[in-house]
Amino acid sequence: MSEAGKGGVAVHASVLVVEDEPKLRDLLRAYLEREGMTVLTAATGADAIALGMGSSPELVVLDLGLPDISGEAIATELRRSGDPLILILSARAEDEDRVRGLELGADDYLTKPFNPRELVLRVKALLRRGRAAPGQSEIRSFGGGQLVIDEGRREVQIGDTLVTLSPSEWGVLLTLARVPGRVYSRYELMNAVRGYEWQGYERVIDTHVKNLRRKLQAGAEGNAVIETVIGAGYRLRLSLDQP
Ligand code: CA
Repeated sequence: MSEAGKGGVAVHASVLVVEDEPKLRDLLRAYLEREGMTVLTAATGADAIALGMGSSPELVVLDLGLPDISGEAIATELRRSGDPLILILSARAEDEDRVRGLELGADDYLTKPFNPRELVLRVKALLRRGRAAPGQSEIRSFGGGQLVIDEGRREVQIGDTLVTLSPSEWGVLLTLARVPGRVYSRYELMNAVRGYEWQGYERVIDTHVKNLRRKLQAGAEGNAVIETVIGAGYRLRLSLDQP
């Protein structure tokens, strides 16, 4: 097998694996390194936060069940420092936990036990998405300046307020803003955000939209920015301003 696995292309990215089970930690390291990634590992939340701040990994694989600090607190801490992509691992299979994981701003979620190959696929999909920057330094304004999206700087301004979005929320907003007024189905949004199908987990998109709305509401009136079209999906209600 080549360094990049079966005929794949090496992915040069730094990934931090946070997992207290040594066997699983070593297994994930081996799988990711085989893809050409630089892998750091941490067995505790304290180490994870220190490494997350010190080495700015592009992506963090984060076990929610760690001995010292809760995975939730670590995710919050990571978001504050380098804002890496976060893929959460959990032993809890309940839907509520899945959704909660994504409310933390996590970008994907895997329930144990899982196939390491599946994890590798998801890590690669997230990295592709995180790096894709369509339309580079384009700045677009909507609704007479109510909403401004700066793709180059990855910034969103609503009214006078600059809002911080998780990578998934950013993906949803960019997709909706592609054609303002067009209704995007949950399926389309999910594919745009994840780059692959994910077991029909449409509720995940609802959570991202809910969080996005809450953030965008800060400077706008009510739910004026994103509209739910019952039985169809979501759309951006503001129209694109002429430059
Ligand atoms: Ca654990």
